[in-house]
Amino acid sequence: MQRLYIAGLPVDNVSSEEAIAVLESFILEGSPHLVVTLNPEMVVRASHDAEFRRIVLSASLVIPDGIGIVLASRLLGTPLKERVAGVDTVERFAALAAKKGYRPFFLGAAPGVAQKAASTLAQRYPGFKAAGFYSGSPSPAEEETILKMVREASPDALFVAYGSPAQEKWIARNLHRLGVPVAMGVGGAFDFIAGVVPRAPKVIQKVGLEWLFRLLIQPWRWRRQLALPVFCFLVLREKFKG
Ligand code: UDP
Repeated sequence: MQRLYIAGLPVDNVSSEEAIAVLESFILEGSPHLVVTLNPEMVVRASHDAEFRRIVLSASLVIPDGIGIVLASRLLGTPLKERVAGVDTVERFAALAAKKGYRPFFLGAAPGVAQKAASTLAQRYPGFKAAGFYSGSPSPAEEETILKMVREASPDALFVAYGSPAQEKWIARNLHRLGVPVAMGVGGAFDFIAGVVPRAPKVIQKVGLEWLFRLLIQPWRWRRQLALPVFCFLVLREKFKG
């Protein structure tokens, strides 16, 4: 697996299929692995949040979730194979899990959403069974309850939807107490799978404008886009320095 660096943050050059194969290898190996789905906002966050930066650097797998990451890799002369969206990774993992009997735990999102996402996947992929689901919150007050719940469910993978950087910080804090081979932050993935938030049509995804579609659907997210000029600056600085 080729690992590149964008503004000092790692990202693995994996295709969608390879990402799933790596997740399965983590399950077979058994020890805890942190998986990050990287987008430009996260790169900017890491530039002023040392704890978050260390967490991303410690990840066993960093998936290129945002189109901006793929474009930056091209500009820097080390092109990534493709964008591997976190939501597609959860979906593909569910297809594999249905065949192999792996059971993921879905943590986060609004009450009822994780459960709805799990039942949608069970309909799409007969044989798929979640180890459990719980909305909860990333607040430290709930941590012990959630840890107990996850440990008792003994899942093969834990997908955490608390938004970034809360989900990665939550996972990093608890990774070694969870006893789960794969723990991955998935942002809005359960919302999309459950159909609570519509996903961009395939053609829009293909031309790299899923972020714009999402902005039109959820305009209150505009503030996050303020990170984009900073991301461009960080990438261009790297290009002209190197
Ligand atoms: N969320 C949550 N608890 C929180 C904050 C966020 O469950 O305290 C959920 C939210 O409901 C959504 C997901 O985390 O399902 C984050 O989605 P967002 O679109 O913000 O994440 P992104 O994909 O942009 O990282």
